[in-house]
Amino acid sequence: MSETRRLNRNDTLILATHNAGKVREFDSLLKPWSITLVSAASLNLPEPEETASDFVGNARLKALAAAQVSGQPALADDSGFCVAALEGDPGIFSARWAGPEKDFAAAMQRIHDLAGEDEDRRAWFVCVLSLAWPDGHTDSFLGRVDGERVWPPRGTQGFGYDPMFIPRGGNLTYGEIAPAEKDAASHRARAFEQFAAACLPLAES
Ligand code: IMP
Repeated sequence: MSETRRLNRNDTLILATHNAGKVREFDSLLKPWSITLVSAASLNLPEPEETASDFVGNARLKALAAAQVSGQPALADDSGFCVAALEGDPGIFSARWAGPEKDFAAAMQRIHDLAGEDEDRRAWFVCVLSLAWPDGHTDSFLGRVDGERVWPPRGTQGFGYDPMFIPRGGNLTYGEIAPAEKDAASHRARAFEQFAAACLPLAES
């Protein structure tokens, strides 16, 4: 297996997303490392289709496409909500279950209808971050938060499937807790911690 590759201070990193919210989030996460973030959207890079069968595959293909077209290292993420009673669905299809109207109330209702009230209630969020280099090298990091699905959905904070998920050990849904509290320990935070430890520049001594 090849070694994990580390970025240098002042490197430019392409963020392989066209989602302005993700650009803002990663911009603030990367601030302490003096990495210049440039979004794929601002370079008019094409968005590849998410054709892989798992989170790692989709994050890798998005990062590789951006790295190879731009000639710079590129970071991509892929995330979703997984339900044990549905064998991990919606999983990589989480965004697609909400349809073009991004109707998450309907997507949560579909989960409830298919999974049932009394079946296995385990559920988890996954986020994979992949860093790709123009020569095809990639490193991927997976963050996961386990918990339970609840019905009916509760709370108006957060987004997506947040109102139907309670992280293990808690009794409030992600829709009920303050976003800062969720963000500090989320699947995305866990993936980012590993990415930062392995791939971001070491502190100057
Ligand atoms: P992606 O942008 O292709 O990674 O799609 C991720 C989808 O997973 C989003 O549209 C949400 O539906 C869902 N998702 C990912 N992370 C979260 C989260 O933290 N809360 C709620 N839903 C999430």
